[in-house]
Amino acid sequence: MGNRKDTGQSVTQPVTGHSSGWHDGGSAEEICHEYLELLGDAQTMHYAWHNEYTDNIADLQEFLPIPVESIYCPVNGEYIFSGNFSYEYYIECPSGAEMSHGHIWNGYTSWPPDPSEYTEVCHERMLSLEAACSMYYGLYNCYPDSIEDLQQFFCIPVDSIYCPVNGDYIISCDDENCYIACPSNVIPSHGNILNGEQSWPYDPSNYLDYCRGHLMSLATGCSMYFAENNRFPEVLSDLEEVMGNWDVECPACDTMYLYETNPEGDTYAITCPLPEGHNHGSIVDGCTSW
Ligand SMILES: [Zn+2]
Ligand SMILES: [Zn+2]
Ligand SMILES: [Zn+2]
Repeated sequence: MGNRKDTGQSVTQPVTGHSSGWHDGGSAEEICHEYLELLGDAQTMHYAWHNEYTDNIADLQEFLPIPVESIYCPVNGEYIFSGNFSYEYYIECPSGAEMSHGHIWNGYTSWPPDPSEYTEVCHERMLSLEAACSMYYGLYNCYPDSIEDLQQFFCIPVDSIYCPVNGDYIISCDDENCYIACPSNVIPSHGNILNGEQSWPYDPSNYLDYCRGHLMSLATGCSMYFAENNRFPEVLSDLEEVMGNWDVECPACDTMYLYETNPEGDTYAITCPLPEGHNHGSIVDGCTSW
């Protein structure tokens, strides 16, 4: 008996969380998502026992750990059940006091993205549509006529694939070209994909990164120029010799970068063209200002 490590202590720790309900300290949105998942699980059980889903929340009581009366979105109220209940169910948080918190469809949850992720989400969705278009082409040797044709490649309803800001995508394909675009209704479009080539416009929140990226690549060009000519370029266009895109612009002002050197060409400075104090930085002899 005495030589085992196990002291018996580890099994007596209390179980934390959920001890006094299903939503200790969660936000309304988190509570709503937990309820939707509970209802989804209950639908799965209902199907297992009754061979169909139900449109009546009361029928799910036998599979729920809490009273059905307590299951509603804390801000938007009662959930909406829809679907063809013989093989699918769709339960959504209605948009009432606030935007809908999302839905669950046959076990797949779909929550609206956080506003800071809208651009990323839009790009991911366009890329998934592009991938589906390519698969469609592979199977049928032509592009789809509408987004509904792509449903077979998704395990989520194809009508839930839209830009979170601008709505339904433009999908325009002919025999040779496949064009998918975020429509620009409310804010500038998030971009488009033409035949697999992505074209994402600059996102203002990324101007700083883009601009500094340009500064870095120009500085690299200067080093390469120095290696070949034993001096830094006299003017930025001298970089043509070592790099193709020396004429990049700061994305915030669409203006070329400022460049300075001395007659000996042993020093240089490249600066974002925005007014001093508001610009994205500079690089002097390879050293960044940020
Ligand atoms: Zn909700
Ligand atoms: Zn978009
Ligand atoms: Zn800049």
